[in-house]
Parts: sequence; structure tokens; C-alpha cells
Amino acid sequence: MQQVAASTAFIGSALPLRRAPSNRAGRLPRASLVCRAQKQDGQTGGKRLVASSAATLDAPVEEGYQSVWTASYDFDNESPELTKSWKKTMKVAVTGAAGQISNHLLFMLASGEVFGRDQPIQLQLLGSERSREALEGVAMELEDSLYPLLREVQLGIDPRQVFEGADWALLIGAKPRGPGMERKDLLDINGQIFAEQGRALNDVASRDCKMLVVGNPCNTNALIGMANAPDLPKRNWHALTRLDENRAKCQLALKSGKFYTSVTNMTIWGNHSTTQVPDFVNAKIGGKRVPAVVKDVQWLKEEFTPKVANRGGALIKKWGRSSAASTAVSIADHLRSLYTPTPPGDCFSTGVYTEGNPYGVDEDLIFSMPCRSDGDGDYEIIDDFVIDDWLQAKIKETEEELLKERDCVGHLIPGATRAVCMITEDTMLPGEA
Ligand code: NDP
Repeated sequence: MQQVAASTAFIGSALPLRRAPSNRAGRLPRASLVCRAQKQDGQTGGKRLVASSAATLDAPVEEGYQSVWTASYDFDNESPELTKSWKKTMKVAVTGAAGQISNHLLFMLASGEVFGRDQPIQLQLLGSERSREALEGVAMELEDSLYPLLREVQLGIDPRQVFEGADWALLIGAKPRGPGMERKDLLDINGQIFAEQGRALNDVASRDCKMLVVGNPCNTNALIGMANAPDLPKRNWHALTRLDENRAKCQLALKSGKFYTSVTNMTIWGNHSTTQVPDFVNAKIGGKRVPAVVKDVQWLKEEFTPKVANRGGALIKKWGRSSAASTAVSIADHLRSLYTPTPPGDCFSTGVYTEGNPYGVDEDLIFSMPCRSDGDGDYEIIDDFVIDDWLQAKIKETEEELLKERDCVGHLIPGATRAVCMITEDTMLPGEA
């Protein structure tokens, strides 16, 4: 099977191809850029303009043009043998695209190991004035990696342009907590980012767009995004707790001396914070309930549980940075779990909207729960987990934290009846020093 050489197929990656805001559907290159082909794409049915590499980089930016520039493959060089079994191109928007996590994730997405080897993707990367140059560097690295499935890369700093038509939005970018910044200030600053991104997604994303919020505090950011995107399905919003699940599986495997793949039915309840609840009551090792294998309930409650919840902080003390590679891996795991049928008796963790949940959790939160999927991108909450008294009390604690966070950002949630910040304690988020 003939591979398409990226060096000939990928044109103009670093060229600032700006388009007018009024021209959403097509590309309107600057006068200095010459369009030399317009070709029907058999896979997507869409039309693509291919920019001439004769374009100049230093041409003046015309007033009124916005900062989206595009790197497109040249379909003149397609190999029908390679592409005929491919699905329709999926548009994946990623924010914080020049950050640490994205630096790992984007390459996994482009390689096909996340969405499948027959799933071409278009990456729509959101940066900012801060990261403009860095983002072009990211695009150059993607170009140099010769991924046939990567059909197009778009870079921009305006969410309304970058989210256009997105099938998935991976919302990773968020302001990190600086020295002396209180948790409620972080909630407010990041909440504003997610309110704006929610509105942008509502206006321009695919009507079935799915969102995964990674930027912290991710549960409440997801709630804010969801509340500001009334036209998108609420169940399509996720907050990432898969890293916590993976950390819990790792600790149970280490303790039991079993390979980590034998740890199943592991869920994280609640908030992606130090109040999260790694559920050893329902988890299994080799098909048996964890307490029947580990036989040390004190260790499970007093060592395992806080160790998982504080893993991010422990890692930053060692490494000086928050987890990036393992977070990217967990994002890939999260996505794969939605596109692979969940084996019977197993589950995966994701923060989802609680409306109608079977566990009596407040119905207007993004709360991590045990879920399963038929492999169609959707999920259902598993309703038969055993909730003992210990689990019930811990779930209540993390729920109360999320209720307080929701009150704190009431001013960012349209229709909220309460907007008062009662957060006095300063709980760390995983990954914070
Ligand atoms: P980085 O600091 O490497 O990148 C974060 C990106 O956020 C930056 O590149 C920046 O991009 C963007 N950003 C958006 N708004 C701001 C702002 N106001 N000030 C500064 N930067 C901003 O972080 P990571 O990639 O390591 O982590 C990203 C997020 O993921 C963090 O919030 C982190 O806490 C969270 N996280 C979540 C985990 C989870 O399990 N849910 C696990 C690990 C991390 P630009 O300049 O382009 O806007």
C-alpha cells in the first residue's frame, strides 16, 4: 500500500493564512496567497482550497482579518488505496494546544491510536497571543511526523473560529494557579474562560459535538461550559477523571502483585480534587472484589484513598511540573472507552451531568460516576454499584465540595439561583504544588 509522503502532501503549515470573519465556510486567503486548486474531497464531500507555497510570510496583515491560519494537505497526492476505507474526517478542537498535555496528546490523536486507524482527523488548535509562535511550532512538529490520517491542521486564537464544526472539543487550556491566588479566584478566572468557550461551542460547533474538560477545576469548568451552551446536549459534556482511575488501578495492582489489567470495575466518584473517591468497594482484582483480595481495609481507607487523591501534588513535588504524559494517556483512554464496547462487568470513570442519576447525587452537577458504553461515542451511568456507609459518606463530602464550587461561580451560570462563594478552605487540586 502506497503511503502519501507528508513532505509533498502537507503545504504551507506555517503560513499565516488569514480569513475574513464573514467567510466562515470557505477560506479567504490574503491577496499574497495564491489558490491554485479547488478539489472535491471524496471522503468528506467537502471542498478544499490548497494554498500555494509561493505565499510570502511577511506580507502585511490586513485590517479586519482574524487570526486563523491553516495547513492543508494537498489532495492531488492522495492514494485511493490508502484512503478508500477511511471514515468521514472528524474535526477535533483542542485548547491549550501549545501546553504540556497537548504536546503529548496531539501526536496520539494524529497517529490514529485514539480514534482508530481508519479515522482521518482535522485538528483545530486554540492558542492565544502568548502562544502564537509556539503553536506554529506544534504544527511544524505535526507536519514532520508524517501522519497520513492527519488531514488538516488549523491554528487560531478565537474560539468562535477554532470550534467551528467541531465533533470533539478537548478543553485543556486553563490558567494555572499562581502564588497567593485563592481557590475561589481560580474558579472565577477559569470559569470565565469556560463560559466564553461554552458560548462559542453553542454557536459554531457540530450539533452533536462532545466536550471533554481537562483544565482545572475541570468538573465546575464543565458545568459552566455546559450552562453556556444550551443548544448542545448536556450529556455530551465530560470532565476528565480517567487519570485518577488509572492511578487507582496502578496502586491496587502494586499492592496485590497482580498485573494492572486484572483491576476492573474501578471508578472514581465526584470531583477531580482531593475529595475524589476512588471506589475500592466495587473494584475487582482478577474478578474478585478488592477487599477480598487485598484484605486490609485500613490500608484501603487510610493509605490507598488519599494516595490516589493526592498523587498529582506528590508528582509535582518530585518533577516540578504537573503530570502531562500520563494525563494525555488518560485522555486517550477516556476517548477510546467511548468508542469501544465496555466489557461486561467493567466500567470507566467520567465526570458527567448528574440529571436523572441513580445514586441520589444533586441533579445539576458534573460528577464522576461509573459508566459504560456500547462503543458508539455515547455512555450510560451504571446503576447497580453497591454504596456502603463509608462510600456514601465520602460521596457526600465530594458532592458538597462541588455544590460549593457551583455557588461560587453562580454569576457565570445563566439562570443560577445562587451566587455566593462560601469556599474558605483551600483544598489543592491534583497537580498543584
Ligand atoms: P500548561 O501550563 O502546559 O498549558 C496550559 C495552557 O493553558 C497554556 O498553554 C495556555 O495556553 C492555556 N491558558 C489558557 N488560559 C490561560 C491563562 N489565563 N493564563 C495562562 N495560560 C492559559 O498546562 P498543562 O497542559 O500541563 O495543563 C492544562 C490544564 O490541565 C491545567 O488546568 C491542569 O491543572 C489541568 N490538568 C487536569 C488533569 C485532570 O486529570 N483533569 C490532570 C493534569 C492537569 P495559551 O497561552 O495558548 O492560551
